[in-house]
Amino acid sequence: MTKETQEKLNYILNASKEIETYNHACRILSYDQETICPVKGMETQGEVSAFLSNQAFKIAKDEKFTEAAEYLYEHKDELTEWDAALADQLHRTYIKEKNITPEKNMEISLVYNKAFVDWSKAREASDFSMFRESFKNVFEMNKEIIKLRDISAGGSVYNQLLDDYERDITTDVLDECFRKCKERLLPLLEKIMKSKKNIRRDFLDIEVTDEQQANIAKWLLETIDFDLERGAFTTSEHPFTNGLGKDDVRVTTHYYPNYFIGSMYSIIHEGGHALFEMLVPEENHEHFINGGKTMGMHESVSRLYENRIGRSKEFVSLIYPKVCEVFPQVMKDVSENELYEALNIVEPSLIRTEADELTYTFHVIIRYEIEKALFEGTLSIDDVPKVWNEKYNEYLGIEPENDREGVLQDVHWTFGFGYFPAYAIGNMYNAMYYNRMKNEIDINSLVSKGDFRTLNNWMAENVFKKADRLSPSEWIKEITGRTLTADDFLDYLEEKYTELYNL
Ligand SMILES: [Zn+2]
Repeated sequence: MTKETQEKLNYILNASKEIETYNHACRILSYDQETICPVKGMETQGEVSAFLSNQAFKIAKDEKFTEAAEYLYEHKDELTEWDAALADQLHRTYIKEKNITPEKNMEISLVYNKAFVDWSKAREASDFSMFRESFKNVFEMNKEIIKLRDISAGGSVYNQLLDDYERDITTDVLDECFRKCKERLLPLLEKIMKSKKNIRRDFLDIEVTDEQQANIAKWLLETIDFDLERGAFTTSEHPFTNGLGKDDVRVTTHYYPNYFIGSMYSIIHEGGHALFEMLVPEENHEHFINGGKTMGMHESVSRLYENRIGRSKEFVSLIYPKVCEVFPQVMKDVSENELYEALNIVEPSLIRTEADELTYTFHVIIRYEIEKALFEGTLSIDDVPKVWNEKYNEYLGIEPENDREGVLQDVHWTFGFGYFPAYAIGNMYNAMYYNRMKNEIDINSLVSKGDFRTLNNWMAENVFKKADRLSPSEWIKEITGRTLTADDFLDYLEEKYTELYNL
């Protein structure tokens, strides 16, 4: 490495440490705001948070910083793999933000904030027309943000938005994946709906206490080998994971008195996200590259633990005695197999976040098809609610009665477009690497025994290790030797549900 490169690198690493210190503080404040912060304390805390994040923003926007970062990007071949990954990340941010002035940045925030307020009111009133104007403003703002990036080879506006959430993903790739999903899942769903199989569900809504749910949540985290000395959990309105720092990863869940499996499976889902954060190499922190993981990578891991493992016969067998012990009023006459079946009921529903693993993909496909048509100019904003309802009818055979349980259910369109597909891609990634994992370790036997350390070690070595350093397409290729495909996921669903529903 030349002396100049070394100097620039030192400068970037020192400045990144300072940025990370501010960001770390912001993450703690954000975690606090979502969990225990009293309502009246929120405003002041919001101001503190805005001040700290602005300090970080100033360092990263400083000319010396961007100049050094671009220099490193151009001299990547002199850098270690870790620092080259940092240079890549800084370059991507630079390209995205270089023409965004502080004034434009403020304008963007105002549009999104207003959209959030309008959406909340519209949702409350179940009336899309109250959100329509803001929806349009967010849509136009997204287009403008992309136009401000002076990259010539970036493809269509929508492809660039998709790329922001899941790098390398394009409408061509998604069209093909989703075509296969429709081709194979629609007939499967139809057979399931016609099946005579009766799955018992009467015990699912028996009332339980928060204390019982907290008890099982902690036990589940320990079971999957979440390290409670390097992490913590509590409750919040919407469950989430926050990787605060190297040895501090926090998760939350939400307790519903009449749906005990809700909090159990959200804690396993968030626990999966947390393991990903906990088990990355230490060097990621030293080189400030932890932000390299994409949404799709993260969801692949959380859904692996929640669904592929968490809803398997082996896992249900592992947790059954504990579930009986913690919830005696629920489980008094429920067999292990009845619990397994109840955890895997397939039923078309209107709300994405409550969907089972088979119908879930359709919720994503519907949002994707609407977004794509909007950006292609073949769908007008006024028609979005109508098309939404038609597509629910077409794919799932049900229709929302109002906008609240339809087009207004998700918060995502208050800040942008292109986010949803990453949720579905996660399932496809994990099905692909599961097929390699099962050839190398005996997953079923490890899960039956509760040996999550061995399983997590495999994940750390093969799935987590390079996630921050590779693009998703390089990453999945490195793990599986293949490019993204829906096939493995669809094979898994067909096999599992054919057996479960005696098809
Ligand atoms: Zn998640």
